[in-house]
Amino acid sequence: MRKLSLMAAVLIAAATLFNSCKKSTKTDPASVSQEILSQIKALGFSTNGATPHEDGYLVEGDIFLSKENLSGLEQSHNLIYANEEHYRTTNLVSTSGGTRTITVSLNTSQANFISATDEAIRRYNALNLTVRFQRVAGTSANINIVTFYQVSNTLGSAGFPTGGNPFNRIQMNTYWYTPSIAVNALATTIAHEMGHCIGFRHTDYMNRAYSCGTGGNEGASTVGAVYIPGTPTGPSAGSWMLACGSTASNFNRPFTTADQTALNYVY
Ligand SMILES: [Zn+2]
Repeated sequence: MRKLSLMAAVLIAAATLFNSCKKSTKTDPASVSQEILSQIKALGFSTNGATPHEDGYLVEGDIFLSKENLSGLEQSHNLIYANEEHYRTTNLVSTSGGTRTITVSLNTSQANFISATDEAIRRYNALNLTVRFQRVAGTSANINIVTFYQVSNTLGSAGFPTGGNPFNRIQMNTYWYTPSIAVNALATTIAHEMGHCIGFRHTDYMNRAYSCGTGGNEGASTVGAVYIPGTPTGPSAGSWMLACGSTASNFNRPFTTADQTALNYVY
């Protein structure tokens, strides 16, 4: 999830202006090769702002694609172009027809992180889904939440399931998530990144401006954006999977009715 801020909007506008002044110079996004950009695009993700990140790439603000993802995500043509409905990737967590417990660990003892992780887990488990979450000690859980510090608009990032297993790492930016950030604001972003880990895409992926104010379409997907039946065909206000969020003290996106429909349908 990315942070929506006036400064970001101003910077984006300034960058747009700047780019338009030097059109003759080719401006590739942060040294990602054309081949990789083609792979990202082929998977249905936007190449706008794609940046190298550790052993892979960060796309659409907070989604980590490993090199394996780039070669391994399943192909699907089950796509509906629409507004702000709910979407999942073609890769989900396998529950083998039963209920699967997904363990979650945390690498920080910062009090609001502990409370927020427990709150995010509580929100999911309250829905009695076929995936359940449980916080455990250590660093070898199914999903490990790790903190990092970076002066950027990234609040947190995660990736999508592979091989029937959840993505195993959520990164949370302590530049934003200081000890004074409200638990519900932090829990909302952790729940959002957990949503990616189990296969959910941004509710507003076709129109990021819905939650980000700017940004438009994350990409004309040919794969990996499967409409979830029963979710609204209009804007899904307040969804936990909207692309942009906030660290304001009153920011909170518990599961809406549409979110619950989507989660219950998939799990
Ligand atoms: Zn996201």
